[in-house]
Amino acid sequence: MVLTVGITGGIGSGKSTVAKIFEVLGIPVYYADDAAKELMNTDEELKKKIEEHFGKETYPGGKLDRKYLGSQVFNDSFKLDLLNSLVHPVTINHAAKWMQQQTTPYSIKEAALFFESGSADKIDYMIGVYAPQHIRIKRVMDRDGVTREEVLKRIDRQINEELKMKLCDFIIINNEQQLVIPQVMELHEKLLALSKK
Ligand code: ATP
Repeated sequence: MVLTVGITGGIGSGKSTVAKIFEVLGIPVYYADDAAKELMNTDEELKKKIEEHFGKETYPGGKLDRKYLGSQVFNDSFKLDLLNSLVHPVTINHAAKWMQQQTTPYSIKEAALFFESGSADKIDYMIGVYAPQHIRIKRVMDRDGVTREEVLKRIDRQINEELKMKLCDFIIINNEQQLVIPQVMELHEKLLALSKK
């Protein structure tokens, strides 16, 4: 059995950056956010449900109008929860199937909302990527060209970072002081050893 490993952390913590280092080491990574976006365009059942709840305008010509859908859930936490309740289960199942198909000693799923979406129990070991909030805010402002307020709003939707880290088995500190690659290498060795048990 291939070990299943999760990578999580708050917005801007550096989850994707850390996941890419594992990929360089030959470990396959499932990026939940990218997969969810793709499934919204390819999973016919999911498309139908989104259309039922958010209107025909969501799929003009059969292709998702991301801007239109975004404008509906933006500033409406009820609608955002509704959308998540449609998309999350499909992505969780898709990820579980993908993980089963891997043949490396372990495989990784990277997701922001593991604990929030209840998918953490499908994972053998969870890695938390930690960065202090002021660094996370700056990174996302720079990356996405958004305001501090917009980042804070996104942070508010996620569970507290310190609590999230307590729920993880391993932590990688990505605070721009500690080197990240050696931390990943050390963890890679540990996970390879665990996979042999
Ligand atoms: P999100 O939850 O928004 O997907 P994330 O946790 O996956 O974010 P990344 O996209 O990996 O975070 O990182 C956020 C930004 O910070 C990126 O532009 C990335 O290049 C940058 N970044 C991450 N780690 C570092 C670092 N150690 N030094 C400098 N920049 C970094």
